[in-house]
Amino acid sequence: MSALQALPSFVLALFFVALAACSTKPLEHITQSNLAPSPTSALHGRFFGTTTLLISDGETHIMVDGFFTRHSKWHTVINGIQSDRWHIAQGLLKGKVTTLDWLLISHAHFDHALDADNTATMTNATVIGSQQSLQHITRAPTRQMQPHFPLHDSKFDIYSFDSGHIQKKPFSQWIENTYVWAARGSAFADPGTVYSFLLTHPQGNLLIVPSARFPDTIKLPVAADTVFLGIGLVGKLEDSDIEELWQHAVVNTCARQVIPIHWDDFTHPIAPNIPPTQPPFDDLAHTFKILQQLSERDGIPIIFPPAYRPFAVIPETKPFSSSDNVCLQVQRQDKMTNAET
Ligand SMILES: [Zn+2]
Repeated sequence: MSALQALPSFVLALFFVALAACSTKPLEHITQSNLAPSPTSALHGRFFGTTTLLISDGETHIMVDGFFTRHSKWHTVINGIQSDRWHIAQGLLKGKVTTLDWLLISHAHFDHALDADNTATMTNATVIGSQQSLQHITRAPTRQMQPHFPLHDSKFDIYSFDSGHIQKKPFSQWIENTYVWAARGSAFADPGTVYSFLLTHPQGNLLIVPSARFPDTIKLPVAADTVFLGIGLVGKLEDSDIEELWQHAVVNTCARQVIPIHWDDFTHPIAPNIPPTQPPFDDLAHTFKILQQLSERDGIPIIFPPAYRPFAVIPETKPFSSSDNVCLQVQRQDKMTNAET
């Protein structure tokens, strides 16, 4: 690239770095607590930033998104959006991930789908995703996403739900469009179908909502024990929309704990601490304030995940599964009654 061609990217990189410099510390608004460490032979999770999660019972290893390339804004705008195998290798190493069975792509935006092909080929995983997401997979084996994916020879079942993408405010959309355009990432502009996932397992059920949207038309076949709730850009929503997300994804699914994901600034490394997204890109202070109120109102704890280390994904006080399903029936009955009145 000539110096003249690089000039617009340079100017935009300066702009994004200047935006990033307008920062405060939003995490002080929430009480931090730690998830219990877990032996890797039990059902457990590992968090790698954004929506990249490993869920494993020691026998079957399922990763969501597999995004590890956390270049700075400066680097991304100058060099373009490109998967970086070194970043992936480092992330896998720190999380002690050597092999994966399945890699689920939630949608085709770059912070979800960029690294999927490399991550899958480096771990011998099969990628499951929408038609749009699978366009980015050229070497790894693939399967088209299905509403129900029973995994034979495994204790897991995977359910997928077309839950839609968070509706961005015009300013957020403009920032993102400009950033992706400046970084020559238009191949990742169309998210395709945006999925949430339910992973069922004899030890507990996990609902993963990568993008902060969960219509109440989605009916889970079983109650969720834990919701991994994507909260990226939630700080830009109206309070009533945040409450609606909580109601649909957490209360109506009978979840007993919430683990927030997609709240970190993925243009910084996640170790030793996980950096939160800073204003003006998001308003996490507002997100955390509202979520904390809802958490206290409903008695459902919000617990932040650690980076890399294995943590227990099911609360210790697990009720019998029959009570979970009673809860689901009660929630649905309440909704029908509310709709009638
Ligand atoms: Zn997205």
